Amino acid sequence: MTPVFEWREAPRAQYAVIGDPISHSRSPQMHHAAYAALGLDLRYVAIRVPVGEVSEALEHLRSIGYQGVNVTVPHKEEAFRWARWSDSTAARLGAVNTLRLEDRYALNTDIYGLIETVGDAVPGGGRAWVLGAGGTARAAILALQELDFEVVLTNRTAAKGESLAAEFGAVYQLAWTASGFDVILNTTSTGLAGEALPIDWTGAEGCQLAYDMAYGGPNNPFLAEATKRGISARDGLDLLVAQGALALEFWLGQHAPRAQMAAAVREA
Ligand code: NDP
Repeated sequence: MTPVFEWREAPRAQYAVIGDPISHSRSPQMHHAAYAALGLDLRYVAIRVPVGEVSEALEHLRSIGYQGVNVTVPHKEEAFRWARWSDSTAARLGAVNTLRLEDRYALNTDIYGLIETVGDAVPGGGRAWVLGAGGTARAAILALQELDFEVVLTNRTAAKGESLAAEFGAVYQLAWTASGFDVILNTTSTGLAGEALPIDWTGAEGCQLAYDMAYGGPNNPFLAEATKRGISARDGLDLLVAQGALALEFWLGQHAPRAQMAAAVREA
């Protein structure tokens, strides 16, 4: 388990990840592996920030010398509201995971990490199925559209899924049928809990990638079912590394050592 600090007791460091809960985070190990590879004397810690205290916590971290912060569940929208500047992609999403504190500049590197990891695995331009309608589903839709996929969405709470699909010009599909997609992205939080989704996998053999955003769960039924059908399966560790590498490059202006970062998260 990663050591966790309460934000009022944050130690001397330069970078941090904030969230609640946060003890599962592998970001400190990943960033320290990068600092070691780059020969940098920097410290990155995990800090718990309760809901409603994000602005106050960020002001405090800035005042004691922190330079950058990653933001995870459930604070990405609150962090966006604290930011003064962002790129247009983050503004469209209204949620950010990377902050430079000095000038309050924010990015959503989850989107670019998704573009990088999906784009490396599958040629764009086909049909993609996104499962879920939370914050990560929003990032997934934008990333897949950027890669020219036609995006189809399914969610447990249909009204929420329909409204998200309409907002981003995606198609809503009520049935959990996996047939006819080139990529399937599971953005629901079921992977971590080991819960199965009611997916009918008939006709899914042509799918090239089943990608779950969750990582660290003991067994992931979505990825296990995909693997059984010969579909290439990936968990969220690839995204964790990609978004972290992009955040480091934004903060430090140096090329991130992705191989060392990936090794660190897989060992953690
Ligand atoms: P949200 O809480 O915003 O959304 C969760 C979604 O999961 C909702 O659509 C919800 O459906 C659905 N869901 C939850 N339980 C079930 C269930 N039993 N059956 C069907 N659907 C269910 O979460 P986020 O979008 O912020 O995060 C989703 C996942 O992505 C998390 O596991 C998170 O850790 C992971 N993630 C990983 C990253 C990485 O670096 N690898 C980066 C970002 C996220 P409903 O609307 O019906 O409630």
